[in-house]
Amino acid sequence: MTQIAPIHVVGGGLAGSEAAWQIAEAGVPVVLHEMRPLRGTEAHKTEGLAELVCSNSFRSDDAETNAVGLLHAEMRRTGSIIMRMGDAHQVPAGGALAVDRDGFSQAVTAALESHPLITIMREEVAGLPPADWDSVIVATGPLTSPALAAAIGQLTGEKELAFFDAIAPIVHFESVDMDKAWFQSRYDKAGPGGTGADYINCPLDKAQYEAFIDALLAAEKTEFKEWEGTPYFDGCLPIEVMAERGRETLRWGPMKPVGLTNRHNPTVKAYAVVQLRQDNKLGTLFNMTGFQTKLKYGAQAAIFRMIPGLEKAEFARLGGIHRNTYLNSPKVLDQTLRLKVEPRLRFAGQITGCEGYVESAAIGGMVGRFAAAERLGREPSLPPVTTAHGALINHITGGHVSTIDEGPRSFQPMNVNFGLFPPLSEPAPNKGPDGERLRGNAKTQARKRVLSARALADFDAWLGGAARGAAA
Ligand SMILES: Cc1cc2nc3c(=O)[nH]c(=O)nc-3n(C[C@H](O)[C@H](O)[C@H](O)COP(=O)(O)OP(=O)(O)OC[C@H]3O[C@@H](n4cnc5c(N)ncnc54)[C@H](O)[C@@H]3O)c2cc1C
Repeated sequence: MTQIAPIHVVGGGLAGSEAAWQIAEAGVPVVLHEMRPLRGTEAHKTEGLAELVCSNSFRSDDAETNAVGLLHAEMRRTGSIIMRMGDAHQVPAGGALAVDRDGFSQAVTAALESHPLITIMREEVAGLPPADWDSVIVATGPLTSPALAAAIGQLTGEKELAFFDAIAPIVHFESVDMDKAWFQSRYDKAGPGGTGADYINCPLDKAQYEAFIDALLAAEKTEFKEWEGTPYFDGCLPIEVMAERGRETLRWGPMKPVGLTNRHNPTVKAYAVVQLRQDNKLGTLFNMTGFQTKLKYGAQAAIFRMIPGLEKAEFARLGGIHRNTYLNSPKVLDQTLRLKVEPRLRFAGQITGCEGYVESAAIGGMVGRFAAAERLGREPSLPPVTTAHGALINHITGGHVSTIDEGPRSFQPMNVNFGLFPPLSEPAPNKGPDGERLRGNAKTQARKRVLSARALADFDAWLGGAARGAAA
């Protein structure tokens, strides 16, 4: 039998552990390089693989109406080691899957250590991986060691590797009240790739603006204590910091009302305007332009719903500012997450612009499968975009719409959510089991059930096809 050359995985966190497992299970040898305990990060405390650095929750386990629950279900179908050990070390948490963090991490470590095709090296990869590693997965996470981050930054160009995320809230389009908001670009400018009506605009009168500023100033903020001393970057000041600098600052910044005419009330000039910019190609998600914030999550939802048009806004994600090393993936990675300028390097986990333990592990699993397929001389097969895995990969590699105008880069990490899925081709049923008409939340839940059923059917078909491909 010919010897199969190993794939190198750098980083034994959630993504790297799952990637190594999937590769080994495909029959390909893996060398997993993890720098702990020789070198630590600001957040990890143990030497275990797949350490959970903060909460012990994998979030909802509901595969019918929750996108992360659906992702769990798909991962279980792939034989995920992260899900298998998560299930085995579950602690009671209602509808969520929470785990005993030490038991979980120890079990993942033991499983990987005892796999005959996995070799674990405790060492930092402190620069570009050696040239003779012809297939590498970089899964070094949000706290990638500085030496490796510098080497990646040199390859991609510094602008394409961020060290922080400054996230503006993202809203589901269907929850915006378009009887109050309207589509228009400032001065109707089309710009490259635009139409002149690319933004959703939400108008505030003077009283609404003053109330909004009062609420911002009074709201609870999270301290930016993660590795203090870091300056705000990219001109991305949090909105509450702008408000602290002066009550009018926002009106001269992201809430400026100029160049816009309220379609619903053309003779009255808005005192301030909040703009939302399309965030994904599907047009299902919009981000609140310039609204990066450190407000606590509870405060954010309440304050943003004070904005006319957003009273019933549903948020795909709330705003935040965190230490986070991640790539401008839609630009620098190809469809199977290879670095375009150096395709022997693939990326996986949070460094690609997904967010969360489960999402990182899921992307790790997929990238492991792609790399293993390639090593075995097969074409990597992408999961359909209708599945949770496929929707997430699509967000990372192509689903995101970049800014229409110049400014800070707009690709930001995201949890899996139904806004990333293509809409249903047929409307979801609008009647319940007893023939009653579904409204509001019941209607939304019914739609999610249909999206989830479509996802699982498509995922099973894809996995079956992938398995047949492997046997061939
Ligand atoms: C402070 C903090 C709190 C978070 N809290 C949560 C939370 O509560 N819930 C949630 O779902 N997500 C959370 N996240 C987000 C994220 O999902 C997790 O960080 C997740 O662990 C990412 O998985 P990963 O595999 O990409 O990275 P990690 O799990 O961080 O794994 C990366 C691994 O690479 C190793 N490494 C780094 N550089 C090198 C190198 N040069 N050579 C060798 N090894 C290297 C690290 O030691 C680490 O083991 C948090 C992130 C941070 C930073």
